[in-house]
Amino acid sequence: MTQAFDVCIRGAGVVGQTLALLLARERLRVALVTPPRPAQTEPPALDVRAYALNNASQQLLDSLRCWPEGDAVTAVTGMQVLGDQGGEVVFSAREQNTPALTWIVDVPALEARLTEAVRYQPQIERVDSPRDAALTVVCEGRASRTREEFGVHYDTTPYPHTAIAARLQANQPHGQLAHQWFLPGQVMAFLPLGGDQGNSIALVWSVPHAEVAELMSLPPQEFADRVAAQAGWPAGSLSLSSERASWSLQQSRADRWVGAMPGQPPAGQVRSFALAGDAAHAVHPLAGQGLNLGLGDVEALARVLRERDYWRSVGDPKLLRRYERERKAGIWALGLASDGLQRLFDHTLPTVQNARNWGMNQFNRSGPLKSWVTRLAMGLA
Ligand SMILES: Cc1cc2nc3c(=O)[nH]c(=O)nc-3n(C[C@H](O)[C@H](O)[C@H](O)COP(=O)(O)OP(=O)(O)OC[C@H]3O[C@@H](n4cnc5c(N)ncnc54)[C@H](O)[C@@H]3O)c2cc1C
Repeated sequence: MTQAFDVCIRGAGVVGQTLALLLARERLRVALVTPPRPAQTEPPALDVRAYALNNASQQLLDSLRCWPEGDAVTAVTGMQVLGDQGGEVVFSAREQNTPALTWIVDVPALEARLTEAVRYQPQIERVDSPRDAALTVVCEGRASRTREEFGVHYDTTPYPHTAIAARLQANQPHGQLAHQWFLPGQVMAFLPLGGDQGNSIALVWSVPHAEVAELMSLPPQEFADRVAAQAGWPAGSLSLSSERASWSLQQSRADRWVGAMPGQPPAGQVRSFALAGDAAHAVHPLAGQGLNLGLGDVEALARVLRERDYWRSVGDPKLLRRYERERKAGIWALGLASDGLQRLFDHTLPTVQNARNWGMNQFNRSGPLKSWVTRLAMGLA
């Protein structure tokens, strides 16, 4: 009897749905596991976040016709990063000879595009429980249960911070500029939203756990004024336009990304698994790279499967090890860099404070180094 599916994807977040579409394009038959929502529950609250997506992610999603349109995407043409003692780094798209440093994408709009594309792809079947397939890909995010069942260790270092996300309305257009402040013990980012002429902002503010409850319960205008004060903007220049949501932050990575499925495979066949996206790694959102990395994972996995010899199964361990090798090292390096940055700005020693702000100014003047790092973050290097 022939197997109904080549690949079973567990988890239908942005990473899982993107992988399903990539594999369907290769004529593979995909089961996409989306557990049913318990009956009589409220519809899930809309995600208030906006993702900063780089050039590589933009091209990938565009090639699948899932890149959101209109005001759901804002091209960032300039970015200002400020330290806590006069340090400043300024990035400009013009300097890099590119239309955008990054794109800020409304999360519900992106999810809606993916869901729609999956619905009309006959190679993909949404199922409510895992199905037998030569390859199972776990895309269940950082709290994945399946990863544990498969015996993978997820090494996690919690940060003493929680990220608060919300939407803000400003009293003037954002001018396609993003801002980030490294404040003592906190990092705050303003991402421009609502299209190139918009005046909405997606806020991501990481603060010590102890401050979260108070910030989440402040009356809306007091919260907005508190944000404005931290940014050095006038009181009343911002208002809150969404619910607030929070995420405790962690750095994590799986000790292995691929392996044999537990249990006996049918005679003469292989049954393997691979991890992708946050199920394999989680980084601090200060670099805005988590989803970019996850999309890089699924692009690499789809390419490795596409380039396989015709007689190899998609569950062939040799192929999967190639995928693991290609992705693991780069992600480890990025995790180290964003972790180092987070720790550097968490320090309260005056000598460290001076050194980091001096370092920012040196970096700002560093020419080729700055250009290389910028292009790396843009997914161009
Ligand atoms: C505040 C904040 C801001 C961020 N900003 C950025 C940014 O600007 N740019 C960027 O690139 N990244 C950003 N990130 C990171 C980004 O959110 C994640 O990297 C991304 O959401 C990971 O996608 P995923 O599909 O791997 O996992 P998830 O988004 O967690 O999706 C996992 C899916 O699997 C489902 N699932 C879970 N368990 C099961 C199961 N047992 N069976 C079936 N399904 C299951 C879940 O319901 C969910 O639908 C940010 C993160 C935070 C917290």
